[in-house]
Amino acid sequence: MSTDALRAFIWDALAFESTISVLKHCVNAIKAWHRRPGMPAPADGPGDYRRLTNSLAHFQGTPRRMIFPLHARAVRRLLLLPVSEHAACGGPRGGCRVCREFLHRWRDCLLGAVATLSCSRCAEAGALQSCDLWVDFDLEAGYQRWAGGAALNVKIRKNDQFRQGHQPRLGVPRDPRLHVVRQLLAFMRAVGNGPRPGCTKRAEPQCPCPVCPPLFPRSADRGRSFDLSRLPTAGEASAMVVRALGHVG
Ligand SMILES: [Zn+2]
Ligand SMILES: [Zn+2]
Repeated sequence: MSTDALRAFIWDALAFESTISVLKHCVNAIKAWHRRPGMPAPADGPGDYRRLTNSLAHFQGTPRRMIFPLHARAVRRLLLLPVSEHAACGGPRGGCRVCREFLHRWRDCLLGAVATLSCSRCAEAGALQSCDLWVDFDLEAGYQRWAGGAALNVKIRKNDQFRQGHQPRLGVPRDPRLHVVRQLLAFMRAVGNGPRPGCTKRAEPQCPCPVCPPLFPRSADRGRSFDLSRLPTAGEASAMVVRALGHVG
């Protein structure tokens, strides 16, 4: 079967309102029957299958699942993002272009690392505000051994029927260069998106805070500044993680 014939078949199946999982089963079965006798299968080029199923998902209004194969080594690399070597400068606020670009790359990498460490989906990590990072949360509850760590206040989780939210913890690593909480605080100091006076988060952890900026703000002004006025969407957060993986190779 040619790829065009497969497309024609899918087109007909769509007319009968087949769901995406049924269509995927059909495509997989057709490919398997071609491979068995060693014949060339339709839509078998690099990325063909993924493109096909993604376009079907769009057609049916099924949201695309955004999952990244991030493992411990990748998180380590994300947290060790180096600044490019350059001459002494006044920092991003002093107009240094290298430092400014680094801040945007650093934001991408921190989002990738935090989302992985807290098992968050892109939408959940993107929706974090700067006041959702609760530093020394367990220390305040009397657990001395968790000093330096933090809890992330994730407002809505999958299967959280009672809408109580979830507070995954970020611990303190043995290697100080991988201290993600310290990096987040340093990032907030550099960008200026830290919690604001009048924050309502601790009083109402489930509600969006009206005054604090996003923890991972969107780039604005063609990457020259950060947009602190609104949270990144799931798609924007996903794009940040993809870019982060590009930064660390
Ligand atoms: Zn610089
Ligand atoms: Zn707040």
